[in-house]
Amino acid sequence: MNLLQGCDAQCPHCWQTINLSLDLSVPEQSYVEDCPVCCKSMLVTYTAADGEVLELTVEAAD
Ligand SMILES: [Zn+2]
Repeated sequence: MNLLQGCDAQCPHCWQTINLSLDLSVPEQSYVEDCPVCCKSMLVTYTAADGEVLELTVEAAD
């Protein structure tokens, strides 16, 4: 089963809306990803249950 889901979020640096691919088979995850618009690092943290995103936060990572 593929639990990858695209999810819209806002970059904490440039405030552009970006689309993140979240792996919802993992109940809780946090990782650093570069913004595709401004290339700055952001810390993505989310929790998931039953294939749905419960909570998603994106913060500046540097
Ligand atoms: Zn950005």
